[in-house]
Amino acid sequence: MGEKNNSSSLQTPSCPDGRKRRVTYFYEPTIGDYYYGQGHPMKPHRIRMAHNLIIHYNLHRRMEINRPFHASPNDITKFHTPDYIDFLNSVSSETATLVAAADHTHVRNMKRFNVGEDCPVFRGLFDFCRASAGGSISCAVKLNIKDADIALNWAGGLHHAKKCEASGFCYVNDIVLGILELLLVHQRVLYVDIDVHHGDGVEEAFYTTDRVMTVSFHKFGDFFPGTGHLKDIGAQGGKYYSLNVPLNDGIDDESFQGLFQPIIQKVMDVYRPEVVVLQCGADSLSGDRLGCFNLSVKGHADCLRFLRSFNVPLMVLGGGGYTIRNVARCWCYETAVAVDVEPENKLPYNEYYEYFGPDYTLHVPPSNMENQNSPQDLEKMRIEHAPSVQFQARPPNTEVPEEEEEDLDQRSRSRLWDGEYFASDAEDEQDPEDDQTPRLNNFTLDDQSVANSSSRY
Ligand SMILES: [Zn+2]
Repeated sequence: MGEKNNSSSLQTPSCPDGRKRRVTYFYEPTIGDYYYGQGHPMKPHRIRMAHNLIIHYNLHRRMEINRPFHASPNDITKFHTPDYIDFLNSVSSETATLVAAADHTHVRNMKRFNVGEDCPVFRGLFDFCRASAGGSISCAVKLNIKDADIALNWAGGLHHAKKCEASGFCYVNDIVLGILELLLVHQRVLYVDIDVHHGDGVEEAFYTTDRVMTVSFHKFGDFFPGTGHLKDIGAQGGKYYSLNVPLNDGIDDESFQGLFQPIIQKVMDVYRPEVVVLQCGADSLSGDRLGCFNLSVKGHADCLRFLRSFNVPLMVLGGGGYTIRNVARCWCYETAVAVDVEPENKLPYNEYYEYFGPDYTLHVPPSNMENQNSPQDLEKMRIEHAPSVQFQARPPNTEVPEEEEEDLDQRSRSRLWDGEYFASDAEDEQDPEDDQTPRLNNFTLDDQSVANSSSRY
């Protein structure tokens, strides 16, 4: 990582196969203005910060840059139920919310659709969902028509959203919608999830089909959402097509790649996907406000670098990530990996420069936290997954017991965030978003460089 030559931010290619990929990138200029509320850890502003770094590193010159279309309720109900989407649409209008606040049905619906705590109502909520989902569907269309080899949407990756309820800061599952679009053209889709949380919404959506294989690496044990056990492998026609890699706190780059690469290599060899979707949740980075892993930006990006090397069409999405300066660093660096350049470690001056002190570098060292994944644990997991060829064989369909209807009011849901304010969190003090009302009409300079295309792709 050269730091001497400031005149050029871009250096030598970083991918060993040196093969160029046509990269397309979707960015909605208003995305950073959506605001979950004071103290809430999910900050769409991080996507604007990442975009700003991308522009100042001149990465946009190496890819096509597009504004996503906004997915319509009709697009969104390809997965979600109409009553849930009607509800999201209606609560997004401020007057409707005020009128409804005292309404018993409204209160019941908030509970029914799990909106209110982890997933608050905020101004423009449904437009935010439409932009996020529109981006991922747009990525799928681009890959479907072979107009790109890699398609990026950092506003996507909201993997916890369920068919008829919000969960874990996610309302609309852009990933499921993107994959459904890919399935119009492709026979087999591989979904890989490196967020610190289990990719439960996507796994659940495709649990009984072999046309989508889901692989999730995540913290497991007393951690949101609580699913993603090693023994959860899919059901019926999808048996052996869900794969879970449960991990403990503090996993570092070396341990993570020691699992990721052999497992993904095996999956690529055996499943032979026609297209791959990678969810790059950045809460698996060291020092995340909600996460507990110890990955560096480079270690995180090595997952993308590895998948890119297979030269199979690739959709790359965002996800979690709550120490926003590091999320921006990570998604900027991953954009560089996608377009195959190695950016200088010294950050170029950018609109959010003050977030990146005191070092003002792209990379930050991981911490000295203990890696609670023993070599024995990791070896056991490797043996469990990597040499296994069990998903080659299609077993006969088995009977799955019908799920019992849960009593709505008895049901208790786990939460991703305990609602604590983190008064000492330097990032929150520094984050201008937390001191202000939302700025829905405030465009930043670099946003003008985004093509004004509002077409479907
Ligand atoms: Zn997460």
